[in-house]
Order: sequence, then C-alpha cells, then structure tokens
Amino acid sequence: MFGRVPKKSDNTKFYEVLGVPKSASQDELKKAYKKAAIKNHPDKGGDPEKFKELAHAYEVLSDPEKREIYDQYGEDALKEGMGGGGSSHNPFDIFESFFGGGAFGGGGSSRGRRQKRGEDVVHALRVSLEELYNGTTKKLSLSRNAICSKCKGKGSKSGAFSRCYGCQGTGMKITTRQIGLGMIQQMQHVCPECRGSGEMISDQDRCPQCKGNKVTQEKKVLEVHIEKGMRDGQKITFEGQADEAPDTITGDIVFVLEQKKHPKFDRKFGDDLYVDHNLSLTEALCGFQFALTHLDGRQLLIKSNPGEVIKPGQYKAINDEGMPHHQRPFMKGKLVIQFHVIFPESGVFSPEQCRKIESILPMRSSKHLTDMELDDCEETTLHDVSAEEVKRRKERQHRHREAYDEDDDDDESAPRVQCAQQ
Ligand SMILES: [Zn+2]
Ligand SMILES: [Zn+2]
Repeated sequence: MFGRVPKKSDNTKFYEVLGVPKSASQDELKKAYKKAAIKNHPDKGGDPEKFKELAHAYEVLSDPEKREIYDQYGEDALKEGMGGGGSSHNPFDIFESFFGGGAFGGGGSSRGRRQKRGEDVVHALRVSLEELYNGTTKKLSLSRNAICSKCKGKGSKSGAFSRCYGCQGTGMKITTRQIGLGMIQQMQHVCPECRGSGEMISDQDRCPQCKGNKVTQEKKVLEVHIEKGMRDGQKITFEGQADEAPDTITGDIVFVLEQKKHPKFDRKFGDDLYVDHNLSLTEALCGFQFALTHLDGRQLLIKSNPGEVIKPGQYKAINDEGMPHHQRPFMKGKLVIQFHVIFPESGVFSPEQCRKIESILPMRSSKHLTDMELDDCEETTLHDVSAEEVKRRKERQHRHREAYDEDDDDDESAPRVQCAQQ
C-alpha cells in the first residue's frame, strides 16, 4: 500500500452543508455551524441526519490539518485515514462544546458533557436592617478572567494551534522506569510543556492581547438588587458571571447576605421585629406615650391604653409593622416591644412620702409579725449582689461541672476517692 496516490473526490460538499465559501475563515465556519446546528438540533425537532452532517462537516473543516487534506483530495481521503483517523465524533459532543449541556435550558444532558464546570465565586455582602426593610441596589465592581476578545480564547493569532510535541496532544505524559527484572513502572503526569491543554502556540502566532493565555482580566460592575424582606444568609446568584476559561462552563457569582447588627431592632422568628423600651415606674403605672422611629424613618406613636399597668419584662405587639415578607412585601410581621421598668433609686422617698404611696398602692402581701413571732426569728442582713457577681458564680459552677464530667468520661472505674485519701 506504500506510495499510493489518493484519487480526487468531492471536496466542496462540507462547505455547502455549512453554507460557507471555500475561503471561509475559522470564525465564519464557527458562526455558520452554530447557526445551523441550533436550527437543526433533534431536541428542537430538527433532522438528526442533517445535524450529524453538520457536525461532521464542521469537525473536518475546523481542523486545519483535516481541512487541508479535504481541500486537496476530498472526503474519500479522510475516510481512508489520512487525517489521523477519520473517526467521527459524537455530533452531540461537538454541539455541546459550543453551547454546554443545557443548551436549551433542559439541564444536564444524558449524553454527558465534554465541558467542565468552572468554580462558583462566593462573596459575603454586608447589609443593614434598613436596607433589608426598604430594599436597595448595590453596585459592585469585580475583576474576573474573560475569554480574550481578540483571539476568542484560542490564544493564537491564526486561530490554529498545533498539537503539543511533549504529549502528542493528550495533555498527559507517561514516563516509564524499570523497577526490577522485566518489571516496568508507568507513571502518568500532567505535561509540563502545555500544562495539560495538549496544545502549543508558536511564539510568532501568540495572541498579542492575552499573550497566549486565552483569557484577560476584565472589570465588571454588577448591580445587586436587595429586595424588601430578604434575610441574613440569603443568596443572590449571578449565573455564569464568574471567571471564564476556554472549554469551561462559566461558574456563578454568589452573594451571601450578611446582616449587620442593628442598635435598636432585632429580627426574630421570620419577619417579626423586636425592640426594647424602658419605662419609668410612673409611666408603667400611670400610662405613657412616645414616638418610635421605624426603619423607613416613619415616626410611630406608641401609647398605653387608659388605666393600663405595664409589668417589668412585658411584651406588647403592633401588627403589620415588622419586616416585609420577601416577594410579598405588602405582608409584614409584627413589631414586638419588650418593656423594662426603671424603678426609683433607694432613698428617694421620705417616710412621709412612703406612707402616701402606701395609701394609694395595693395592700402589703406579707402580714405584720407579732412581737412573739419576732422573738422566734433570727436576725439577718441583706447584702447587695450585683448581676456580674451572679454571672461569675454561674460560670465557675459550669467550669467545675465540665471538669468533673471530663474526669468521669476518662475512666469511670478509676478509684478516685481512694487516691484522694492517700
Ligand atoms: Zn488573545
Ligand atoms: Zn503537552
């Protein structure tokens, strides 16, 4: 079979299938294929044969080596294996290398995708409670890798690349070494010359814009719409806006809302807002009114009902003045106010004032002790105990218990008591 000259066969059909002239550039070929492939995709009711034909024509013409053989000798020469094996790729694989698996929004294809998915980029976005109540738009400037606009991600001026010599285009290199009598160990590692891409671009052909990197840095401004009622931890996703890379489905940019602590309001249990308010003893007993500035700047008049007494720690709620419900902002939670009663300091009342107060306030709850009963009692003194002291005591007890539990866990059968007695 040596020296066989292939006979000439049809070498225009592939151009006709794609509807391009014989002089078409790589870009024109690509555009023509994309357009025709979408139109004829079987998932969209297109003719499967036509779809296959398109993929095959594009596969040949997009490969400079195969295109040259086709132009010179025609289709038959390729079938005879001159183009490094005329094996036809799966037409769906070729289509998906352009559009990704979910080309028609149908999710992952059962045929498997050739492209890998790029990583998502996650940012925390700090927002105030006011912003979550009122809604807002934030403009954020980010820099990311974008497919080089000059070479369209090819990395070369001509659009062509040659197979890496180091790995024959596989991206992997296999080294062998003898480890014993007749035993050979094979090791596979990423080709250092092409860094696993399997392609090489000559220095002269390198794209001047991206220097052969295929991607360039791009500044991008994203408008993040924070909708009324969104909550801490909620995600806002910009699909396909992360770093671009050749043959990769671009990942998403994800913003995770992080609500700053508000000095006054606390969001709890979904859409309810909690606020603390201090009342003087007089207000708690005799009534009160005050203005509360809401998260949108409105002044709410809060007042007690006639004759109402507020007890320390008591809660009262106003309907529909809580946080707006996300996506149904006209529905709002409750605004819950917890009242704290500030009592007068010791010594502010004279004995005479005390008698006056007593004449108004309800009866004493403990009965007056008789002299005989007093004789039976022991005298005691009440000391002040600060809140901090109670807290310290609690912590000390907690630590003690933990230490005790740990000992217990270590070895239950340990003769601890005996040891302590020695
Ligand atoms: Zn470039
Ligand atoms: Zn290589």
